Amino acid sequence: MAHCPDEFAARATGSNCERSDARFLRTTDRGRDAGPSAAPVVRKLTLLRTSGAADGPRVAPAALRMQEATSHDVSRRNSAQALTAECDVRYRRPMHLAFSPAEARVRDAIRAFLVDAMPPSSAIAEDGWIGGFSPEFSRRMGAAGWIGMTWPRAYGGGERSYVERAIVTEECLRAGAPTAAHWTGDRQIGPSLLAHGTEEQKREILPRIVRGELVFCLGMSEPGAGSDLAALKTRAVEDGDAFVVDGQKVWTSLASQADYCYLVARTDPDAPRHHGISELLVDMHLPGITVRPLVDMTGEHHFNEVFFENVRVPRRWLIGEKNRGWFQIASQLDYERAGMERLLSYAPLFRDLEAHLRATGRTRDPLVRQALARFHGELAVGRMFIYRIAWKLSRGIAPTAETALAKLYGTELEQRLARFAAEMLGDESLLTTGGGRLATRTARALLNAPGLTIRGGTVEILRNIVAQRGLGLPRE
Ligand SMILES: Cc1cc2nc3c(=O)[nH]c(=O)nc-3n(C[C@H](O)[C@H](O)[C@H](O)COP(=O)(O)OP(=O)(O)OC[C@H]3O[C@@H](n4cnc5c(N)ncnc54)[C@H](O)[C@@H]3O)c2cc1C
Repeated sequence: MAHCPDEFAARATGSNCERSDARFLRTTDRGRDAGPSAAPVVRKLTLLRTSGAADGPRVAPAALRMQEATSHDVSRRNSAQALTAECDVRYRRPMHLAFSPAEARVRDAIRAFLVDAMPPSSAIAEDGWIGGFSPEFSRRMGAAGWIGMTWPRAYGGGERSYVERAIVTEECLRAGAPTAAHWTGDRQIGPSLLAHGTEEQKREILPRIVRGELVFCLGMSEPGAGSDLAALKTRAVEDGDAFVVDGQKVWTSLASQADYCYLVARTDPDAPRHHGISELLVDMHLPGITVRPLVDMTGEHHFNEVFFENVRVPRRWLIGEKNRGWFQIASQLDYERAGMERLLSYAPLFRDLEAHLRATGRTRDPLVRQALARFHGELAVGRMFIYRIAWKLSRGIAPTAETALAKLYGTELEQRLARFAAEMLGDESLLTTGGGRLATRTARALLNAPGLTIRGGTVEILRNIVAQRGLGLPRE
C-alpha cells in the first residue's frame, strides 16, 4: 500500500496492530510537533477510506483515528499531525538492506571472537542453541559483551541495536557455537524482566545473565496444555510472603541444568482461564522440585518433566502483575519465535553438505545445482524476515504476526534441508555414529527435524496467528 509499506500493520485489525497503535497514541499525546510531511499522508488515508469497498484495503486503527481527528475536530489538528508524523517515522522510513559500517564492525568482531573461542569442530552440535551446552563458552560470550546486547547499561547491557544482536546470533548459529547455556536468558527472560520485572529483580538477575552465569528453562507446557496453554493446571496459591506451587510441566528443555524456571501458573482458578494466570521466576534448587529426564529420538537428553510439590516461591519472584501473566506471555513469545535460530539451526550441516557436494563433483548434476540454488535463495529470504523483525523491534513495533510467519517459514525450510541432506547421502544418513561428521550431522538433523515445527508453537498455531493478526481473517 502506498501510504504504509508495512502490509500487516495496514491490514490487521487485531492486537498486534492495536499494540503499536497504542504506542502511537501515547507518543503523540506527549509530542506536539508535526512534520511537514504530515498533510499528504492524511489526504492519502482519507482517500483510501472513502474509496475502499467493504472488501477493499483496510487501514490500521491508528491511521483511521488520524483521519477522523482531522475531519471531525479541527481543534485537535496539532495532535493529529503529530500522530501522522509518528506514523511517517515508524512506517515510511526505509529499511536499510546493507549493514552500516558500525554493524559490519560488530559482524567482524563476533567472527574474530568465534575463531578464538569455538571448541574443535568435531564437538559442534547441530542445533547448538539447545544442544550445545557449555557454561564456559557462555561466560566467554558474556565477558566479551555478546549477551544482553540491547539492554540498558545500568543492568550490565550494551545498549546496542536489535540488528546488531541479530548479527551476533546469526554468526553464532552459522559457526555452530555452543550457546545453549545462556540462550534463553538472553533471548527472552531478560527482555521480559525489563518489561515487567521489579527493580530488585532486574538488579539481581540481569547482570548475571549478561555475564553468562545463569541458565533458565521455560515451564509452560503441561501434559494437557501445549498449543492451548491457557488450559494449564499448575497452581500457585498465595500464602503469606510466598506462592505455593503444585503441578507438573513437560518438555522442559534444560530443566536439569537450569538455575531458574520461568514458570507460568494459575493464580486464580475461579477467573476466566486467560485471566487467572501469573508468571513466576522459580529457583530450581528450592525443595519440592523434581526433574525427570526425557530422552528424545536422537538418543539425547534436553527435555524433562518437572514436578512441583508444595514449592514455596517467595512473593518477590512474581513477574509483573498477578493474574495478568497471559498478557505478558504474548511479547515473550515474540522474542522466542523471532530469532535466527528458527532458520539457521542446521547451518553447519548445510555448510558441510555443500562443501561435500562440491568436493565430490555432485554439483555438476543439474538437479543438485538447482536444489542448492533454491536453498540459498530461501535462506536469504528467511534472513530478511528476521532482520526485518529486528528492525521493527528497534522502532518499538510489536511484530507478532511477522514472528509467527518467520518461524513457520524458517522451520519448514530447515526440515526440507535435512531431507535434502539425507537424499544426498543415501544410506549413510542413517548413521548417527561411525559414518563420519557429515553423516552424523545428517542423521541427527533428520531425527531432530520433527521437533522444529512443534517447539515454540506448532506450524498450525502459527498459521492461525498469521491469518488472524496478520491478515485480519476471522477466528477459526
Ligand atoms: C524440541 C522441543 C522443545 C520444547 N521445549 C519446551 C520448553 O522448553 N518448555 C515448554 O514449556 N515446552 C516446550 N516444548 C513443548 C512445545 O511447546 C509443545 O509441544 C507445543 O506447544 C505443542 O503442544 P503439544 O505438544 O501439547 O501438542 P498439541 O497442542 O496437543 O497439538 C497437537 C496437534 O494439534 C494441532 N493443534 C492444536 N491446536 C490447534 C488449533 N487450534 N488449530 C490447528 N491445529 C491445532 C497442533 O498443531 C499439533 O499438530 C518443546 C517441544 C519440542 C518439540
